[in-house]
Amino acid sequence: MAARRFDRSPENIQLLAVSKNRPVADILTAFNNNQYRFGESYLQEAISKIEYLRDYPLEWHFIGPLQSNKTRLIAENFDWVQSLCNLKHAQRLNAQRPEKLPPLNICIQVNVSEEPQKSGVTLADLLTNAQAIAELPRLRLRGLMTLPAFSQDFNQQRIPFRALHTAYQQLQASGFTLDMLSMGMTNDMEAAIGEGATLVRIGTGIFGERIKKMAS
Ligand SMILES: *Cc1c(COP(=O)(O)O)cnc(C)c1O
Repeated sequence: MAARRFDRSPENIQLLAVSKNRPVADILTAFNNNQYRFGESYLQEAISKIEYLRDYPLEWHFIGPLQSNKTRLIAENFDWVQSLCNLKHAQRLNAQRPEKLPPLNICIQVNVSEEPQKSGVTLADLLTNAQAIAELPRLRLRGLMTLPAFSQDFNQQRIPFRALHTAYQQLQASGFTLDMLSMGMTNDMEAAIGEGATLVRIGTGIFGERIKKMAS
């Protein structure tokens, strides 16, 4: 519907089902409805799901915060990392990606609105980071991802998405072969689609409200 509203063809917009905090049964229900791309943010939880679902043809995207001590398990188990924010993590993932697997697909996470508390490369640093990451043979730079400040206002939501789209086009013009512009969640997917997203990351909109983790 959003695609039609913005004159975009739905085949060019992929859906990532964000299954963090969801049980395996929910993933299987989505899979039985032809969904095979899943996003996870918490590594331990993700690894047990990936292992349990090994025999299903699923594509796993890591979308959570990266830390050096997590890169090995991510390199060994995921198809995509969308939350790459620095070169040190890129080098670790590159070194740790098993030879038997294809290169790890990468999106650089960009902090478009330059919120100090958010992770992500700034627009000013994007080109040098992209150049360095593109040289790593076991990674394949595919595009950009952003997680903008929360807003309920449609026009406000469009601003960071437009800025990310512009940065994406500039990288393409500098010779990078990119095909992934990951932006938009349940709350702002229409604005993201309007601004050129090639993939939206949807949790609540698919699985319902997240159940808060119990304090233990
Ligand atoms: C949780 C999460 C989403 C999905 O958010 P919803 O509001 O449930 O659609 C998308 N992207 C990232 C990076 C997330 O952490």
